[in-house]
Amino acid sequence: MRKKIVAGNWKMNKTFSEAEILITDIADALDEVDLKGAEIVLCPPAIYLEMAMDVAFESNFKVGAQNIYPEDSGAFTGEISPLMLKQLEVSYCIIGHSERRKYFQESNEFLQRKADALLRHKITPIFCCGEVLPERESNKHFEVVKQQVEESLFHLPVEAFKNVVIAYEPVWAIGTGVTATKEQAQEMHAFIRGLISKKYDEKTAAGTTILYGGSCNGKNARELFSQPDVDGGLIGGASLKTDEFIQIATSF
Ligand code: PEP
Repeated sequence: MRKKIVAGNWKMNKTFSEAEILITDIADALDEVDLKGAEIVLCPPAIYLEMAMDVAFESNFKVGAQNIYPEDSGAFTGEISPLMLKQLEVSYCIIGHSERRKYFQESNEFLQRKADALLRHKITPIFCCGEVLPERESNKHFEVVKQQVEESLFHLPVEAFKNVVIAYEPVWAIGTGVTATKEQAQEMHAFIRGLISKKYDEKTAAGTTILYGGSCNGKNARELFSQPDVDGGLIGGASLKTDEFIQIATSF
């Protein structure tokens, strides 16, 4: 049985005191609900990871980072390494988010290095893929996602691949209020699972968690998560409000 996950990507939001309140509010709220076995992951800005870990040790959620540089140490001013995350006991790290592809020119090849660096330290990459609107409109979305997944992940041996989570995030749905329909999400998730099955095997494909991301909220999460190949969500804006995030987390 593959894992169900709801991960909150806070992006570059919240002051220190706001972050402290949000983390403790979410932790308290998670104590009161039935997650039906789902794992909850909070991905705050790097500067709040240690504080989040302090709460997580006593609570029912895991912590993820939003980025790493794919070296353990060195002259990479401003970057943080997977070794640093490992020492904090962070469990996950988002890679390949469309904002990093767009604003920091991260390529599929560079993301391959990030995946390797994280897996070396047993940190689970949450690998984001997804097409921009013109690509969907010209019917290239399958081709684009295939290339992203193949070029960044399919060099991995099967045992390493089993520790990867994939997030399908159509770029036109991120932060726009336009959500993929449940049919569009299911179709792409099934396609990605098919790629994994062809490259590795059916068992590995069936065991891979594939999240949906893009304007997922308290109202549409249940419908999206009810699709057979949608194993949860990577949540941006709606992860910054306790009530809504909890509503999403309990939508299985
Ligand atoms: C994201 O940035 O990963 C995301 C899914 O954002 P939003 O939920 O705000 O669309």
